[in-house]
Amino acid sequence: MRMVKPLARLHEQLRRLPGIGSKSALRLAYHVLDMKREDVEELARALLDVKDHVHLCRQCFDLCEGELCEICQDEKRDRSLVCVVEQPQDVAAMERTGATRVCIMCSMGSSLLDGVGPDQLKIRELLLRLQKGTVKEVIIATNSDVEGEATANYLAGLIRPTGIKVSRIAHGLPVGGDLEYADELTLYKALENRREI
Ligand code: ZN
Repeated sequence: MRMVKPLARLHEQLRRLPGIGSKSALRLAYHVLDMKREDVEELARALLDVKDHVHLCRQCFDLCEGELCEICQDEKRDRSLVCVVEQPQDVAAMERTGATRVCIMCSMGSSLLDGVGPDQLKIRELLLRLQKGTVKEVIIATNSDVEGEATANYLAGLIRPTGIKVSRIAHGLPVGGDLEYADELTLYKALENRREI
């Protein structure tokens, strides 16, 4: 398709974004053309700001603006509890539960089986943090897929010898879920993780 060069360039850049096909990219490119100049400037600034000002927290590897993220700076958190998750998006998900006011998160990157080595998973940094003696329990909240389970078991094996309690978040039936519609593995996990009432 013939397109004015700058428009073609924007189309090409947008098309490279995940989940955006050629048609959507074209629609977005034309939309940008229609936008007010100050809105386009704001969008361009936001894109650059993300690159320039967002980096990993020195302590937990969550995304933040300064040296330490808000969670690590929060005095109200229980520093004896560390919750390990796979990626920054998971920190946000755990925070949304509102039940983690006592937890400090530690983003670990992706899972072991993805060909990612322990170095990239920030395991050394986690163990160094545990050596300081403040942490009494590590809650492993990696995903419940094969990679997440492998990472959880690997981590548990490393942490147990230190004498620090290791726990795994429970997997089971979704709230409001019907038994008859649950898949076998979910049901099996729910049974396995049962608790006394
Ligand atoms: Zn942090």
